[in-house]
Amino acid sequence: MANRNRELGTATLGGLVAGGLVSTALGMADISFSTAIGAFVGGLVAAYLLYGKTSQSAIAGALSGALGTPFFLGVSQILLIFEVIPLPSGPTPQLSELQAAVVVILMMNLIAGAIGAVILSAVHHPPKSLPPPPPPPGSAAGPVRYCVQCGAQLPSGAMICTHCNARQPQ
Ligand SMILES: [Zn+2]
Repeated sequence: MANRNRELGTATLGGLVAGGLVSTALGMADISFSTAIGAFVGGLVAAYLLYGKTSQSAIAGALSGALGTPFFLGVSQILLIFEVIPLPSGPTPQLSELQAAVVVILMMNLIAGAIGAVILSAVHHPPKSLPPPPPPPGSAAGPVRYCVQCGAQLPSGAMICTHCNARQPQ
């Protein structure tokens, strides 16, 4: 259980960082829905780290999407403060508008992260365990038989012992 939680934490963190970085890069390039795309990528990363565990991947993807939002907002603010990205022009949005935007982005990222994780889990199955090898020829014909005379193992269907030539009862 502890191991599973650690896997979930690692996947969430991986998705969060990857999603946050992608969101920031796309945001700098002024691409719309940059946070949702980032969250989607974060979900993919989380699912990749969990490798094939769909339900856990969906949780990790959703968590990384939701947690990636403050990560992205924080990085964006730092970039704005250091003027790496220009301040948005136009009128300053109302606080209520910003609050609504954050809630929308949070929900959008949560869903995008979960979707990304589920998609990757669906297409990226762990390798199926190989079927058992077919039994070697001859052994499937019946139980192993031994000579009534000398006890040597007989080839399947042998009427006469290959060792002592004793006739075998059928
Ligand atoms: Zn024999």
